[in-house]
Amino acid sequence: MSNYEAVIGLEVHCQVRTASKMFCSCANTFGAEPNTHTCPVCMGYPGTLPVPNKEAIRKAVIAGLLTGCEIARFSKFDRKSYFYPDLPKNYQISQYDMPFCTDGCINVGGEGVKGFSGDELPAKRIGITRIHLEEDPAKLSHYQGASGADYNRAGVPLIEIVSEPDMRTADEAYAYLTSLKEIMQYGNISDCDMEKGQMRCDVNISLRKSSSDPFGTKIELKNLNSFRAVHRAIEYEMWRQAQELDAGRTLRQETRGWNDDSGESYLMRTKEQAHDYRYFPDPDLLPVTFTEEEISEFKANLPELPAAMRARLVAGGLTEYDAGVVTADRHLAAYFDEAAKSVKNPKLLANWIISELLRELSAAGMDITESPITPANMAELVNAVDGGSISGKIGKDVLPEMFATGKGANEIIKEKGLAQVSDAGAVEGFVDQAIAANPAQVEQYKAGNPKVLQFLVGQVMKLSKGKANPKLVSDILAEKLK
Ligand SMILES: [Zn+2]
Repeated sequence: MSNYEAVIGLEVHCQVRTASKMFCSCANTFGAEPNTHTCPVCMGYPGTLPVPNKEAIRKAVIAGLLTGCEIARFSKFDRKSYFYPDLPKNYQISQYDMPFCTDGCINVGGEGVKGFSGDELPAKRIGITRIHLEEDPAKLSHYQGASGADYNRAGVPLIEIVSEPDMRTADEAYAYLTSLKEIMQYGNISDCDMEKGQMRCDVNISLRKSSSDPFGTKIELKNLNSFRAVHRAIEYEMWRQAQELDAGRTLRQETRGWNDDSGESYLMRTKEQAHDYRYFPDPDLLPVTFTEEEISEFKANLPELPAAMRARLVAGGLTEYDAGVVTADRHLAAYFDEAAKSVKNPKLLANWIISELLRELSAAGMDITESPITPANMAELVNAVDGGSISGKIGKDVLPEMFATGKGANEIIKEKGLAQVSDAGAVEGFVDQAIAANPAQVEQYKAGNPKVLQFLVGQVMKLSKGKANPKLVSDILAEKLK
């Protein structure tokens, strides 16, 4: 098979998280009884008028600012006409030639960064052509011999993020999507739950012999239900199109679906069947304008993005790895930040959250938002270990207790009498017992084998039931054995 270069662009739809729909006051819901959140506006009754949702517009603009886009001072909504059961009005309100946001980018990869397939992923800037706001159509479900339409989804605000054809590999597309999802979640723009259809992705892909050649014939891939499916579908299409080109066949511009079970794409429709949407400005809606003051205000209140938070955490003493784990989930990041307010040692906090708390959560099938240990209680436990009032070992017994009961660390330490013994007199008593009980090891130590000291410390810890302060034990032992 000859070598080809793939040219890949992505079109991503994200449902915007708002209380109500885009142009009416129906609730923006998921999973409700079908067709229980509808009204004459989102059902397209004659004589009704759309009222734009300001919060959705604000979030579309924030999405643009977080991806470095230019924000249009003047834009408008257009009608995109097509006739299909998911569209009660027979047109979708969208944005045609004047989207809110244009000309942004997302940076992926970097030195030492590995892509989804495990290969190096060099740094790359992936351009964003535009971000526009529109309304979601109804959700259609197809059964044997029948189809159902749920208009609860009709009119839910949706942003479409169109990338430049800047990606060349499945790994770059995967990294772009991962980063885009993080940005949308951190910006509180969309929850991006693909299983709930809150984030949907179409891929445009063509092949060419060399990077100086013009673009090849563009194939659109639809029905991609996970980032992994996107990755697989791109690799499959690169192989399929290369086979076709090698055999001397000409590719047609077409839309293909992806069957994740068989691992193959299939023809949905060819270019000849493409729609003519007859866009025109929606006469029911005024153009949308932003003043310089409004744009400045948006910019002044932008949330911190994961990359910036990672840099901040690393500067605060966390390793790159720990900072990556903490920021991989927006809710975990918020939990960490809340707990970190009350601890002196953020690195220790990260260790305890990553190795102990996440394990308990995973065993209980919970996510961080359901944690029975509050950020304040987590800070209390880490401070108890950090300050030496309990050992790390005892801490590992305290945490599951906190998890099971929801009690604070100090309360459990007090109740169970777990506080570390830092009273020199008490520790000395344990040390004397250990020396008396292990004459052979004492001899070895005195004969110049320093490793035996750790054994003796262990014996003292055992006698104290793990509560003696190990540093104090070691100091007293060394002193007594001089
Ligand atoms: Zn409605």
